[in-house]
Amino acid sequence: MNAHSPFPQEDSPKASSIVNGLSVDVEDWFQVGAFENVIERADWDGLATRIENNVAGILDLFAEADVKATFFTLGWVAKRYPAMIRRIADAGHEIASHGYDHARVFSFDRKSFGEDIRLAREILEDRSGQRVSGYRAPSFSIDRRTPWAFMELAEQGYAYSSSVAPITHDHYGWPDAPRFAFRPLPWSELVDIPVTTAMLGGRRVAAGGGGFFRVLPYGFSRWAIRQVNRRDERPAVFYFHPWEIDPQQPRVENAPIRSRLRHYTGLEKMAGKLRDLVHEFNWGRMDALAHREAKRAVDLILPEPDVEPAQ
Ligand SMILES: [Zn+2]
Repeated sequence: MNAHSPFPQEDSPKASSIVNGLSVDVEDWFQVGAFENVIERADWDGLATRIENNVAGILDLFAEADVKATFFTLGWVAKRYPAMIRRIADAGHEIASHGYDHARVFSFDRKSFGEDIRLAREILEDRSGQRVSGYRAPSFSIDRRTPWAFMELAEQGYAYSSSVAPITHDHYGWPDAPRFAFRPLPWSELVDIPVTTAMLGGRRVAAGGGGFFRVLPYGFSRWAIRQVNRRDERPAVFYFHPWEIDPQQPRVENAPIRSRLRHYTGLEKMAGKLRDLVHEFNWGRMDALAHREAKRAVDLILPEPDVEPAQ
C-alpha cells in the first residue's frame, strides 16, 4: 500500500513488469487524415481549436497514474500553442515530431520530406527546450514506397522512428514489416518501433490504438497487450489523439460516412478506457523504449522494389 495515495492500491503487481510505450499524436480534430479531403489546410486557422483543453485533460490523466509518455506533435500546433508545449515538457514527457502539418510521407519526395521534418523539429525544440530525437509519420505513412524516409531521418540525427503499421489497412500499412523494433539501414543505428499488433488466428491485428481501441471493448486491448508482453515478451506501443477524449468536438457533416463512423464512434467511453489502460500496465516514454529495444532490433532486409509498369 502506498500510504500517500488517496486511492486504493491493488496488492497484485501490474499485468506485466514490461514497460510499454505510451504516445499521443498531438493534432486537432480538423487535422486528421480522415478529413483531409473535406477540410483544406488553408482553413485550419479559422476553426475552433480544442487541443489545449484536451491536452490538459490528458496531462491530468497521466499525472494521476504517474506515467510519462511521448507527445508526437505537429510543428503547426507547436507554433501556435507554445505554452502547451512547455507544459507537456515540464511535466516530464517527451516532445517528439509528427511532421509539420500532417502531410503523409508518400506525398513528399526526399527533399521536401527533409524540409518538413527539419522545420517541425526546429519549432518543437524551440518551444519545448528539449532535444527532439523521435519521429512518427502522419498516419504511419512510411512503407515500402518511401525507403528514403529512413535515410533522411538518420542523416538528420534522429534516434528512432515509430512510423510503421505492420498490417494491412485501407489507409496505411506495410504488412510484411517486422512486428517489433528493426534497424532499417545497415549504416545507421536508427531504429523503427512499429505500432503494436497482436496475433489472432495466425493473422496480425491492429492492437496499438486508433479506431480499434475506441470501437472494440477494452477487454480486447487488455488481451492483446498481455499477449505481446507475455508471449512475445516485448513492449507494446500504444497511441491515441487528443480529440479522441472530446465528445463535444464540432462535427464534420460533409465528410464521407465511413470517415465519420471511424472518427466519432466511442468518444464518450474513451477517457474511461484510457484510465483503465494506463493503470493496468506499465508505461513510459518512447525514447527510453527505443533505447532498450535497439539491443533486440532486427535488420530490415528490403526486397528489391517493385518496378512500376509505365502508364
Ligand atoms: Zn496524426
